[in-house]
Amino acid sequence: MSFAPGSWARSFSETMVRVSRVYPDTIAAELGIEPGTEIGSVNGREIADFLDWEFLTADDDLVIEARLPSGEDVVFDIERPEGMGIGVDLEPPTVRRCANRCEFCFIEGLPKGLRKPLYIRDDDYRLSFAYGNFATLSNLKERDFQRILEYRLSPLYVSVHATPWEARKVLLNNPRVPNIMEQLTRLTDGGIQFHGQMVIVPGLNDGEVLEQSLTDLWSFGDVCLSVAMVPVGLTQFSHLYTGRSMDPSAALELLETSERWARRAFEERGHAWVYGSDELYLLAGRDLPPIEYYGDLPQIENGVGSVASLRERVRTHVGELPWLGGKRIGVVTGVSMAPLMPELTRQIEGRTGAELVLIPMENSLFGPTTTTAGLLVGDDIRRALKGRDDLDLALIPAETINESGVFLDDVVFEELRRELPMPVHPSYDFIDVLAGSLEPARAS
Ligand code: SF4
Repeated sequence: MSFAPGSWARSFSETMVRVSRVYPDTIAAELGIEPGTEIGSVNGREIADFLDWEFLTADDDLVIEARLPSGEDVVFDIERPEGMGIGVDLEPPTVRRCANRCEFCFIEGLPKGLRKPLYIRDDDYRLSFAYGNFATLSNLKERDFQRILEYRLSPLYVSVHATPWEARKVLLNNPRVPNIMEQLTRLTDGGIQFHGQMVIVPGLNDGEVLEQSLTDLWSFGDVCLSVAMVPVGLTQFSHLYTGRSMDPSAALELLETSERWARRAFEERGHAWVYGSDELYLLAGRDLPPIEYYGDLPQIENGVGSVASLRERVRTHVGELPWLGGKRIGVVTGVSMAPLMPELTRQIEGRTGAELVLIPMENSLFGPTTTTAGLLVGDDIRRALKGRDDLDLALIPAETINESGVFLDDVVFEELRRELPMPVHPSYDFIDVLAGSLEPARAS
């Protein structure tokens, strides 16, 4: 490994990426790379973002052009021992913004005054590949296609919504939206697989449009890995929306369509392929399918199979819970999950001897139409638990808190916890908290 002062003169200030962290005892540390170092190129190719870095540094022989925080240009010549990473983290990329203006956009349905990052409408194929964020592909340029194909960014998570072009233009409220069938054909011809999502707006992409869309997606064969049907979600602030909201009969009709297609998929492909989201089942008042229906839970992050997964987790682990006889445990949840909770809390009560007290809360920030437990805000938790001296501890939905320990309404979990009269634990599934220590858990 060596480095030399660089004599390369071209400016890479628009395409460089910056190192945010250097791990000790790594190649980067040995070379003297520091946080703030700008990476210009690897093996002669410019580095525009983390994707270029990940893929171009896969070689073992590397020539890296960089600029140190002191302003000195250097060239690192690296022969990397097999399997050893370089040892840096990069600053997060600038997120690609969305070119659409969907009437149902959840971000348009946020109240004013929340922290700024919550209002960013991202639509970024890189995050789709790296983190499973859904992207519409509306803002893909030729260079993006080439990168997806060259780096084999697969699978992607694609917000399809509808395959008929005219219907999709209306749904995305964007007359310049590209033809998604042409885009997907090009990508899948190049070996890219994808998961699809359809947010269903009654009157726009149900009925014939939905049938056509499923037919088109089915025609891709196995490269279309799964499709989720999600009901349009509106808050009391969804000011752009002019359509109908999803009612139980519309939800039921959608489930009949998804289950009809799933029966065909089970017969021909051995898995359900298309799934109604949990919320769709709850809206329709229908029982949710068992865990086996969801295969390897391809869209659990999209609210597809989360309830089945929770039920399974409680069923298989309840026997590991300790005796908690005499304790009263508050369980804060959203309005839509509340009816499903007693079957779970009964099992836990039977095993532990504790009494679980269900506390369903309406969402004070987004309004009563937003019933998801994970969108409850700090103030809802405060209202639920303040003055509840009768509880020995309380569980709140862990999804309500971000990685920095903050609720959507900027309430800090650690501060809120100090206001409340009982230990409060963020929990995904009861088991995570009740099977372990009951000392207060950290929020992140
Ligand atoms: S694609 Fe539509 S829903 Fe998604 S961020 Fe853009 S405007 Fe919002």
